[in-house]
Amino acid sequence: MSNPTDPTSATPSDFIRDIVADDLQSGRQTNIHTRFPPEPNGYLHIGHAKSICLNFGIAHEFNGVCNLRMDDTNPTKEDVEYVDSILTDVNWLIRGWADANLGLKPAGKTPETQELNGKTDFYLPPVANQSKIETQNLQISTEPFYASDYFDQIYEYALRLIDLGKAFVCDMSPEETDEYRRNAKPSPFRDRSVAENLDLFKRMRAGEFPDGTRTLRAKIDVAAPNIWLRDPLIYRIRHAAHHHTGDKWCIYPMYDFAHCLSDYIEGITHSICTLEFEVHRPLYDWILEALGLPRTLPHQYEFARLNLSYTVMSKRKLMQLVTEKLVTGWDDPRMPTISGIRRRGVTATALRDFAYHIGITKYDGLTDVAVLEHSIRNDLNKRSLRRLAVLRPVKVVLTNLPENHFEELNAVNNPEDPESGTRKIPFSREIFIEADDFAEIPPPKFFRLKPGGEVRLKYAYIIKCEEIVKDSAGNVIELRCTADLESKTGGATSSRKVKGTIHWVSAAHAIDAEVRLYDRLFTVPEPDAGGDFKSFLNPHSLDVVTAKCEPSLAEANPELRYQFERLAYFALDPDSEPGKPVLNRTITLKDAWAKEQKK
Ligand code: ATP
Ligand code: MG
Repeated sequence: MSNPTDPTSATPSDFIRDIVADDLQSGRQTNIHTRFPPEPNGYLHIGHAKSICLNFGIAHEFNGVCNLRMDDTNPTKEDVEYVDSILTDVNWLIRGWADANLGLKPAGKTPETQELNGKTDFYLPPVANQSKIETQNLQISTEPFYASDYFDQIYEYALRLIDLGKAFVCDMSPEETDEYRRNAKPSPFRDRSVAENLDLFKRMRAGEFPDGTRTLRAKIDVAAPNIWLRDPLIYRIRHAAHHHTGDKWCIYPMYDFAHCLSDYIEGITHSICTLEFEVHRPLYDWILEALGLPRTLPHQYEFARLNLSYTVMSKRKLMQLVTEKLVTGWDDPRMPTISGIRRRGVTATALRDFAYHIGITKYDGLTDVAVLEHSIRNDLNKRSLRRLAVLRPVKVVLTNLPENHFEELNAVNNPEDPESGTRKIPFSREIFIEADDFAEIPPPKFFRLKPGGEVRLKYAYIIKCEEIVKDSAGNVIELRCTADLESKTGGATSSRKVKGTIHWVSAAHAIDAEVRLYDRLFTVPEPDAGGDFKSFLNPHSLDVVTAKCEPSLAEANPELRYQFERLAYFALDPDSEPGKPVLNRTITLKDAWAKEQKK
């Protein structure tokens, strides 16, 4: 596949990259280390792609490392299916670009215990992936990082916090705790002794208490203006098996406690997340500082998440579409998931180009899906092989050609890529054209085929419509035309001008393909702005037709991309079988929605 210049070879600039550059310049950091920390409770979506491109992009541009870490602290919502899909999606998106910057963990390795400045420290030294990981399949050979691999260390840190008098076991119910925190009221258990706290916390771990009966809370400031500092929960009891640690634990650390410590253990320098975590940052810093950790602490930076028009983005809503069978699965080509977008035919290059285009800011906004579509068209225009295919065929008989007429015509594979060369396409007396390209009663400025009118067949002759054949119901079933036999390239009348050129395929040589015409999943720009987002589903988001295609499409390759001339870009779907291609419309050549909106 020709590989258009990678947009991500450019070095963008934004406030986070400025901070990173400054940290290197001043010597505050010498090795840049970022991470992408998805929770394996659903498939990754295009918002995650923005975060992946930012975190891996920074590692790539500053010669650093980026860890892929499963943020798996909630056993009841997570699943290995999601872990696997995340690996596949991240690998696909960074392959051939930032895969050399992927942090690798030697198999089975756990954090090292270090004594530094009289304190126990845990550290999992990063290993950059210098030899490129296998490019053939989408499997990553080495394990990603798991927050759950640090449960032992995180537990040790919790014990230390208790020892320091900075955490206590609280016996209030979750509801009471919420109410007390909202009202800035101290827990009646706040002043338990260190010894009692240690005893209770160890017994929580040993499984002595049921879910919800006790929690471990940080002892910070019950009246803090920032509610996250009002003695937040850092551990809770959950008698549930975990997809990665099995039955080993019945207490699990809360996100805020596990995240900063995982960052610290992995030696992360810049912990980049979305704006909703800005209010958690004081807690992130408090925990790391309270423990008096000896190594340089990671810092958290926040950027605006991606919101995309005509799209819902939250995993919860995407999950609903899947479980209620409103789409065929997480990888339905209409889904904004990375796996859906990939199946639709979008390339990783196009997705990275989009991520680099939209930039990184501190202000929430709505990105027009047309920006994404622009990146997709731009990429596919450069790489797609041009092919002739007719989606809704009507037969044309060229009456002045002999019954057995056969010739092969030269067609250009890709005008954007001279190296792609030409191919032969068969031409004969009976062809199919697009039903839309004929009008019995043409509207004004209709330059395609009409009774008595002329049109050029792409790469072939000018034809004239002499007669319309209809069935008993009055439908046009055949057009009888004559061809100007001198009008082909090189012929006497080849330079004769007619206003329209249309595509076609030879009837006897065409192959059938199932073509899935995908469109936007929602009909309104902000489906989750109010009301039930599912009421805005586009009833025409998928239309399936049997297309007549030029014979070369029998060998369509899943790695390649195709442009059906005058129509759209297509990619082979994994549902294809030998002799039975299934093609997905990735995107139309022009933006029909923009026209709709202007009307
Ligand atoms: P959602 O809100 O869609 O359910 P999430 O935030 O729960 O997603 P995580 O798995 O926790 O999903 O996200 C992993 C990383 O991706 C986090 O650092 C998060 O900030 C980032 N991320 C999630 N959604 C977006 C988005 N729309 N734009 C940019 N980054 C995102
Ligand atoms: Mg989350």
